[in-house]
Amino acid sequence: MLNCKSLVDQASDFTDKSLPWHRVLSIKFHLLMCVHCRRFMRHFRTTINLSAHIAKENEQLSDTEVSEVMDSIKQLDSEQK
Ligand SMILES: [Zn+2]
Repeated sequence: MLNCKSLVDQASDFTDKSLPWHRVLSIKFHLLMCVHCRRFMRHFRTTINLSAHIAKENEQLSDTEVSEVMDSIKQLDSEQK
């Protein structure tokens, strides 16, 4: 079964819908079982939406900068586990 760290590692690809179906299935199964990852994914998506909104408003953040922020957030979150 997928563990929490693997889910966090694939969260971006899962959100982008760029994973093969069997990985999507294992992530969805893990999300059914794990409240911590459900909470993580909710925060992850909120952060992505906020980052996109800020970038749109300011038009100063590049995709690379947004990715760097997201990677930092993912790293911080994984360090807290
Ligand atoms: Zn989990």
